Amino acid sequence: MKKVVLATKNQGKVRELREVLAHLPIELLSLADFPAMAEPVEDGKTFEDNARIKARYYMQKTHCACIADDSGLEVALLGGAPGVHSARFAGVHGDDEANNRKLVAELRARGQESSPADYRCVLLFVDTDGHEIVADGRCDGEVRTAPRGTNGFGYDPYFYRGAQSMAELTLAAKQQISHRGAALRDFIPALEDYLK
Ligand code: IMP
Repeated sequence: MKKVVLATKNQGKVRELREVLAHLPIELLSLADFPAMAEPVEDGKTFEDNARIKARYYMQKTHCACIADDSGLEVALLGGAPGVHSARFAGVHGDDEANNRKLVAELRARGQESSPADYRCVLLFVDTDGHEIVADGRCDGEVRTAPRGTNGFGYDPYFYRGAQSMAELTLAAKQQISHRGAALRDFIPALEDYLK
């Protein structure tokens, strides 16, 4: 059976992807099966660039097909920032609290309490011969300076669709409308077709 590596260190993403890809005729591995592998430098200008950098890097290192993703928040008032820098907006990779403090400060520095915004997610599969499948998902909404809710992660308490923040939704409800859910709905049938 074809081996496919989920090229992410985030165990939450690994679990979620394992679940939605479980029906495919592939043996799913993760980076936990390849310990002590150095990480690539994610210096792409777009989400797709960074997903490609990760997928190709781990494909070359593991000699297996790979699936990588890259995602983030784009705020209109901030010219699309933090974008590909979402995980390290405030300087330290993955410090959600600091990132959210910076988001609020940047909006207020412009005299605003909200801005149109979107989440983006690119999923990218690359086979060992270089064949690619790319899916891009988007979720439009608004960021506000007042947080609500405790579910989700990252910018979710500050990202609203109507009256509700993403952090007020259950995971299942979030997946119905999220950028990751949208990318998966395109990605899975394309991968199914390719594997036939
Ligand atoms: P990465 O795709 O794992 O590099 O994550 C990029 C960053 O974007 C995360 O650290 C979060 O700050 C942000 N992000 C991506 N997706 C979401 C989401 O669904 N909710 C909240 N923040 C997100």
